[in-house]
Amino acid sequence: AKRHGGAHTAFFEAAMGDAAQQRFRVERDLREALADHQLRLFLQPQVDAKGRWTGAEALVRWQHPTQGMVSPGLFIPIAEESELIVGVGRWVFTEAVRLMATAARAGLALPLSVNLSPRQFRQGDFVPWLCNLLAEQGVDPGLLTLEVTEGLVIGNVEQAIARMKELRARGLHFSIDDFGTGYSSLAYLKRLPISELKIDKAFIQDAPTHPDDAALVETILSVAAHMQLKVVAEGVETQEQADFLARRDASVILQGYLFGKPAPAREWLQRWQEQQVL
Ligand code: C2E
Ligand code: CA
Ligand code: CA
Ligand code: CA
Repeated sequence: AKRHGGAHTAFFEAAMGDAAQQRFRVERDLREALADHQLRLFLQPQVDAKGRWTGAEALVRWQHPTQGMVSPGLFIPIAEESELIVGVGRWVFTEAVRLMATAARAGLALPLSVNLSPRQFRQGDFVPWLCNLLAEQGVDPGLLTLEVTEGLVIGNVEQAIARMKELRARGLHFSIDDFGTGYSSLAYLKRLPISELKIDKAFIQDAPTHPDDAALVETILSVAAHMQLKVVAEGVETQEQADFLARRDASVILQGYLFGKPAPAREWLQRWQEQQVL
């Protein structure tokens, strides 16, 4: 029994050591990545019910010198636990807004959605920093949507709402990401100056086949319609899912592998340009 316990403890410690070590490595390498231009901006199209592109979500990628392309699912949570997310977030916003400026110079309005981490939003200078970036690049703030989760308002609710209102007053839009997975959602909705809900892909995936998910998606669509909120369905992979959504709401916006995987920003812009002249 003792030997068993010992082995168990050793295994547990090894596992913890691995996690701590991985975190340490990711933090150290990410610091270098920022200085060394290893981050990449990818874009994934959003389309209307007729399949026309309406804009894109910006998703960061990390081209690691030895590990290859690192998924944000791995490094964003680690970055969020340190100040590193501020640097990563600033990089993403700067790249996204520059791309919008490039599109504008070519005569194209490019609506983009960018993920905003709570920690970045809580930085005292976030609002003036972002407004300055948009002004400097001559980009219409109304084309930029900030994707946030309800974690954004945790802590200082009043201050968070005031900040959101300040940005909304300047024309920016807010979208509630992963809608349906958290707790508060409905109670907060009324108080937050939001323009859009993004239905989490977990509900979209099973909506055509599971009555519970179907009911949930239908409820979200109906709440959104009453509140005059735009809806984006994420993780649309099959035609059945797209049809399910379009049949219930002709104004729903779709995002998912069915319409396009995230692609390098320049490539994506090229295709956007080709679409717009057609
Ligand atoms: P998210 O904001 O919920 O982004 C949607 C995720 O779903 C993306 O994963 C996207 O590539 C993936 N996806 C899109 N279509 C489909 C589909 O049809 N099926 C499936 N199974 N997945 C699909 P990704 O790019 O790996 O990003 C993961 C998460 O990392 C994001 O989830 C977001 O929370 C975070 N993230 C990514 N980029 C940024 C960023 O620039 N800033 C911040 N703060 N977070 C980011
Ligand atoms: Ca998102
Ligand atoms: Ca999401
Ligand atoms: Ca998510």
